Amino acid sequence: MGFWHEVRRDFKTVFEMDPAAKSGLEVFFAYPGFHAILLHRIDHFLWKIPLPLLPRLLSHIGRFLTGIEIHPAAKIGAGLFIDHGMGVVIGETAEIGENVTLYQGVTLGGTGKETGKRHPTLGDNVVVGAGTKILGAITVGNNVKIGANSVVLKSIPDNSIVVGVPGRVTKKKIIRMTTEEGLIEVMDNFPDPVSEKLEDFESRLNELSKKIDAAEKQKDSGSNGKTMKIYNTLTRKKEEFVPLVPGKVSMYVCGITAYDISHLGHARSAIVFDVIKRYMRYKGFQVNHVRNITDIDDKIIVRAKDENTSIVKIAEKYTEEYYRDMDMLGVSRADIEPKATEHVNEIIDIVKGLVDKNYAYDVNGSVYFDISRFSDYGKLSNRNLDEMIAGARVDVDEKKKNPLDFALWKASREGEPSWESPWGPGRPGWHIECSAMSMKYLGKSFDIHGGGADLIFPHHENEIAQSEAFTGKPFVRYWLHNGFITVDKEKMSKSLGNFFTVKEILGKYEPEVVRCFLLSTHYRSPIEFSDVQLNESEISIDRYYSTIIRIRDFADSKETAEGDSDAEVLEEFENTLSSVKSRFEDAMDDDFNTALAMGHIFELIREVNKLLDTGQSGGKIRKIVLKVKDFLSETGGIFNIFHKTPEEWYESLMKVKNVGLTAQDINDKIIERQTARLEKDWGLADGIRKELEGKGIILEDKQSGTSWKIKVG
Ligand SMILES: [Zn+2]
Repeated sequence: MGFWHEVRRDFKTVFEMDPAAKSGLEVFFAYPGFHAILLHRIDHFLWKIPLPLLPRLLSHIGRFLTGIEIHPAAKIGAGLFIDHGMGVVIGETAEIGENVTLYQGVTLGGTGKETGKRHPTLGDNVVVGAGTKILGAITVGNNVKIGANSVVLKSIPDNSIVVGVPGRVTKKKIIRMTTEEGLIEVMDNFPDPVSEKLEDFESRLNELSKKIDAAEKQKDSGSNGKTMKIYNTLTRKKEEFVPLVPGKVSMYVCGITAYDISHLGHARSAIVFDVIKRYMRYKGFQVNHVRNITDIDDKIIVRAKDENTSIVKIAEKYTEEYYRDMDMLGVSRADIEPKATEHVNEIIDIVKGLVDKNYAYDVNGSVYFDISRFSDYGKLSNRNLDEMIAGARVDVDEKKKNPLDFALWKASREGEPSWESPWGPGRPGWHIECSAMSMKYLGKSFDIHGGGADLIFPHHENEIAQSEAFTGKPFVRYWLHNGFITVDKEKMSKSLGNFFTVKEILGKYEPEVVRCFLLSTHYRSPIEFSDVQLNESEISIDRYYSTIIRIRDFADSKETAEGDSDAEVLEEFENTLSSVKSRFEDAMDDDFNTALAMGHIFELIREVNKLLDTGQSGGKIRKIVLKVKDFLSETGGIFNIFHKTPEEWYESLMKVKNVGLTAQDINDKIIERQTARLEKDWGLADGIRKELEGKGIILEDKQSGTSWKIKVG
């Protein structure tokens, strides 16, 4: 190939490779890349002659003119095009904002130990080309766009874009530590905000598609498209309930610390969440309920010392007591009831993870969570740091950086129970057990976390911090908290000594009465403990059982079967029943308003009594009255009341009221009285009636005979 032929090819190549090349004149005079190759063709031609010095000199001049150095001996084929020979090029589409310094070799930022001005700032709206290296302590403005293959060693604002693969944005984390050699800086791992963002998007996308699925399922399900609204302590508003997995509810409720007998406050929390679970199941959800038992804690250790026994014995004893009380109150067991001491390995794993991620630090064998590392701290209790610090307590022997930092792991003292850990022998702090056990059984994110309002801060606040720091995922979707029981307007609590144990209450009131009393107020509101209210609940429950007797008698009676009913009365009552049903569900769907729902139930009881008072009879009335009975027993099942026969109810009442007679004794008395009446011994008959009345037993003479009931209220 001849010299001129090659030059012509090179000239043509410029137009092929660079669409911006407009005219031959422009290329000939203003393209350093073309100048370089042209000079090289000449040099190479002279090199072969051979005249070594001249071509070397020309090559050097070429480098000086074009910024491109090509050795004369290099063999270059046809079609080479070198664009932009000189190092830094700022193209016509480039935008550079305020105070930007671009270094030659297209490296932005210092690579050495420079400080001060040499570290550039990329202002707003800057575009940096592909292949750029951005290093060191630079600051990136808003809306900056950085091309592919760039290395950016600093966080960039959310609204900036770094494009292309393998473009990589890395956040340099420097850990500063004071050692014997003074302050040193250690570079930590390089988390990748881009992939974290992608993960975040993915989980949000999943959540949205689940919401859509759930909404569609709900539309098709038997709940008439009715959705539940639940008050979420985290957002401080009522939200539509959408479970993570359609049709399923995962619920964790903080249980007791097994060191003492339960009081009515514990019973309220247990009953509230028992009812929430039962209602969710009534709605058709598959509920997985976890309630823990704290069996290692300062209070248990103190109690074991006081009673001169082991913590295991103390925890066992009070767990049994708790179950006995809850069984009496009709609180069902949770599906899983994990104990803290059986999950120490899981707890250590989380604590280790938090230390590794720099969210926790250890001091003398104890590990504390560093709340300054978790920017959302305070989001559940809605308090700012100053308020929280004002309420924080620090034990004398705690060496925390911040009074709000809390113990994840406690070094054990002489004679205390302990487990081996990477920080030496110790035991779990209180908060961490709930994170470990809830995540083990329900996953990193789950639907409902509940407990008494006194657990919001610090217990649940701390659970959120440690769980979300550990997993990087939202911990709980709905936080539910029940209100306190008050005595003379003060919170019933062990520390104030103004409490009634469950056993004391059950010694005076029938368990269904206690449940009815506790559910007659919305779960988030405080309940003032009052015998008057409990007596009213007793009257209400008794009214139900008297009504059941009435319905039973009515349904069994021959006259009912033979009679005929008024169509209008029947229709009106049918409307009442369906209205009560739907109002009952509306009330429960509205953040579990048991007080209102129960009001509707007792309204129905009044209405069915009124219906029976009208003297209507016939198959249709009988059918609808039995429907009422079924409805009452179904809704009673949600509150776990109304589950006895009237006879069992009276027997149970006799026990709490210390009647001192058995049902058999009373029936004997009734027979004795009947005999007296047959013998017209009115004095004796009346005496028996009065004697029983004195013991709280009321006799009722009906056509079918004499029946009895216990005086209530
Ligand atoms: Zn808890």
